[in-house]
Amino acid sequence: MNIHTPAAKLTKAQPDAEKPSRAEAEAAVRTLLMWAGEDPEREGLLDTPARVVRSYEEFFNGYAEDPIALLARTFEEIDGYDEMVVLRDIRVESHCEHHMVPIIGRAHVAYLPDVRVVGISKLARVVDAYAHRFQIQEKLTAQIANTINEVLQPRGVAVVIEANHQCMSTRGVHKPGASMVTSRMLGAFRDDPSTRREFLAMIAHRHPSGAEG
Ligand SMILES: [Zn+2]
Repeated sequence: MNIHTPAAKLTKAQPDAEKPSRAEAEAAVRTLLMWAGEDPEREGLLDTPARVVRSYEEFFNGYAEDPIALLARTFEEIDGYDEMVVLRDIRVESHCEHHMVPIIGRAHVAYLPDVRVVGISKLARVVDAYAHRFQIQEKLTAQIANTINEVLQPRGVAVVIEANHQCMSTRGVHKPGASMVTSRMLGAFRDDPSTRREFLAMIAHRHPSGAEG
């Protein structure tokens, strides 16, 4: 087992802006209710601001996570295992940073270990640590791949995300069936066509429609 700690530059996600109080956050929700045409004092809405603020704590708990620390604990007793490690169909729940509405989909993450491997659940936790922030899918994909690459220093990393964006399905152009696919390939996945093909075959469509949501 090895504790590996590279530079922490990848975790810098949130500027040190003044965090508002819970009461201020709840007041902001009441303002949005009124903006929508509601009376925030009616019975059904009295507890809504508090519920929304608690939901935000859950949706955006990724800001409190350190993705590099999640991957710091690695294992080197792998008996020479040097084939691809793939975790596919990782549920992705994120929020679009332009409209603050959900992005729902799935991620497929692979790497080619060099010396060290990481507990497989940690890959899913890295996805969550970045997804549970305001995001665009391209940045989310790159952050996951770059972090795994930097911390594990494998021979290659591949991340593919397929997701539906509610800013596109429930507003704007109203195209609910469209899913967006992004990928970031590093190392052997970028340079070696057969490695890339093997990965893409492993995640090839076993689901009729990319992502749900
Ligand atoms: Zn959007």
